[in-house]
Amino acid sequence: MSTRLEDYRQIVGSEVIDELLMLADRVRHLRLQHINSTSVGGGVAEILTRMVPLLRDLGIDTTWDVIKGNQAFFGVTKAFHNALHGGEETITEEMFDVFRATTAMNLAELDTYGDVIVVHDPQPAGLISRKPDVGGHWLWRCHIDVSTPDPRVWGFLQDYVAQYDASIFSMPDFAQQLAIPQYMVPPSIDPLSDKNRDLPDDKVRAVVERYGVDPDRPILTQISRFDRLKDPLGVMRAYRMARRRHDCQLLLAGGGASDDPEGAEVLHEVREAAGNDPDIHVLELPPFSDLDINALVRGSTIVMQKSIKEGFGLTVTEALWKKKPVIGGAVGGIRLQLLNGVTGFLVHSPEGAANRAVELLGDPELRDAVGTAGHEHVKENFLTTRHIRDYLLLMLAMEHDDTDLSLLTGGTP
Ligand code: UDP
Repeated sequence: MSTRLEDYRQIVGSEVIDELLMLADRVRHLRLQHINSTSVGGGVAEILTRMVPLLRDLGIDTTWDVIKGNQAFFGVTKAFHNALHGGEETITEEMFDVFRATTAMNLAELDTYGDVIVVHDPQPAGLISRKPDVGGHWLWRCHIDVSTPDPRVWGFLQDYVAQYDASIFSMPDFAQQLAIPQYMVPPSIDPLSDKNRDLPDDKVRAVVERYGVDPDRPILTQISRFDRLKDPLGVMRAYRMARRRHDCQLLLAGGGASDDPEGAEVLHEVREAAGNDPDIHVLELPPFSDLDINALVRGSTIVMQKSIKEGFGLTVTEALWKKKPVIGGAVGGIRLQLLNGVTGFLVHSPEGAANRAVELLGDPELRDAVGTAGHEHVKENFLTTRHIRDYLLLMLAMEHDDTDLSLLTGGTP
């Protein structure tokens, strides 16, 4: 499906689109290059897949490159990811060597040519060593919650980060002590993507049935990579407690990301824990299952995102857009999205999740009310048009020191 900016007028209004066109006029001479570590799977790839064509439609010369790495490298960066999220990880000197070696390989192989280069997350951060040779404005875009990082890993990464012109975090709580400017830009979803666009009820029903789930009984769903930080086992515990008080089925669906080697192991643990309960559906989804994911969320009664740590949690945004009541872990960007009791419910334990699930299962009006409020919250704050506006403003700021960055959605911390 081709993406045109004009199609968004009907959703976000003309003022928003006209402002984007006006801002784009001012930065059209700048080439924008995004670099990350996977083209499929996970939130960053999801955002870039949709945003890059829209930036091009605005006339901004935008490209997206992906670094290369072997399994050892992605094993190391996954451990770094967990450690930056504050998890217990064994970090060895050899791991830093693996990171440096892959960085050197990518420095030799990957071309950096943008006037503004946005490097996403820790994996490609070392490409900054190229800056003295190629020039340009370099931004480090951090999507993860680094508010309580492992000091060794953060110290290692900080040496790279300090060389950037500026950093971007998803919310003020993630801000760090850095000598470079820090900007706050929350992520976004695309309301017209296959993942989010409206679907007819019969299509939704057909997809739910195709996966063996009963569309006529309540469905609790979590869509996530199989990752311990997404706490799929906690969701299962919550479901088991809730179903003692209310009939329901559980749907845990997710795929892998090429930069996440732990997925298969976690999926195995989840399948073991599910045992032979016919009402627990564990689905391993291939990449590009967007329409199916859309339908599965639309067919659900309640969506869970019971993360223990979370950068932003696009799955929450996607569910809110579909007017679903969402129960989420009170962590990271989920807290920006679920205003407790208004646009969703924040929980701290499987017990809390179970209680909220029972409350929602028994109260269709409450489900409607939080679903509707959640949709409005996303429309106002977390759609791709707002995200593009923030990037255009940052591009402007890279060239003009006097750009008013209080206009950024998140402002500066
Ligand atoms: N996703 C997907 N297939 C899956 C699991 C997740 O397409 O099997 C998508 C999901 O819809 C969301 C993104 O991947 O758009 C996950 O982003 P999020 O911020 O929730 O978590 P991350 O995976 O980046 O930690």
